Amino acid sequence: MDNEKKKILIVEDEKNIAQMLAFNLSQAGYDFDIAYEGEEGLKKALDEDFDLILLDIMLPKLDGFEVCRRIRVKKSTPIIIVTAREEEIDKILGLDLGADDYVTKPFSIKVLLARVKSNIRRASNELVNGTSGDNPEVIRIRDLMIDCERYQVTNRGEQIMLTKKEYELLLHLARNKGKVFSREQLLEEVWGYEGFYGDQSTVDVTISRLRSKLEIDSSRPEYLFTKRSMGYYIK
Ligand code: CA
Repeated sequence: MDNEKKKILIVEDEKNIAQMLAFNLSQAGYDFDIAYEGEEGLKKALDEDFDLILLDIMLPKLDGFEVCRRIRVKKSTPIIIVTAREEEIDKILGLDLGADDYVTKPFSIKVLLARVKSNIRRASNELVNGTSGDNPEVIRIRDLMIDCERYQVTNRGEQIMLTKKEYELLLHLARNKGKVFSREQLLEEVWGYEGFYGDQSTVDVTISRLRSKLEIDSSRPEYLFTKRSMGYYIK
C-alpha cells in the first residue's frame, strides 16, 4: 500500500448523514473522524491534521460559517461545505469564507467522493513540490514571484500563504499585467459565476485580503491597484 490513509473530518450534526458519510468514506479507503457540533469540529480541525474537512452549515453551538472562518485563520486544510439548501450557497459565496468547494444536500455520494478526491489531490499538489507540469511558469513582478508549478507565492523572498481563490485571483491579474478587470469580469473569469449569481463584494473582500498579505501598506499598494469605478489591476 502506498503511504498512509488520508484522514477526513466530518462535521455534521445529523447522525444518520454523518454515519452515511463515514461509511462511504471508509469504503473508499479513507480514515475519518466525526464531530457532531461546531465547537468540537473546530477544536478537532485545529488540534489534529486532517487531509480534508466536510463541513455542514447548520450546526449546534457554532455554525459552519464561523467554524470555516476560524479554521482558515490558522490552517489551509481543504474544506468542502455541505449545505442543506441551494440558496445558502449565495450567502456562503458572498461571505468568502475561504472554503474550497460546496456540495448541496441531497448529494450523490459518487459526486461527493469525486470532490473529496480532487480537493485532496489539489491541496497536496500545492503543498508538496508540484507535479511536473509540461509548461512550468514563474511570473515575477519586482519582488513578487508566483511559481505556477508549485502553486507558491513569495514576496521579498518570503513565502505567502494564500487560499485557493486568493491565489487564482492573483494569478489571473498577474498573467494579464496592466489590464484592468471589472468585478463582474473577475467573478466570471476567476470564480466562474455567471452574472447575477455572485456577489461582487466577494471580489473586494478577496482583493483586500490579498493586499493585507502582499502589500507593506494596504492603503498605498505597490502591486494591486484599484482603478476607480472600473476595477482592479496589477502593475
Ligand atoms: Ca445540520
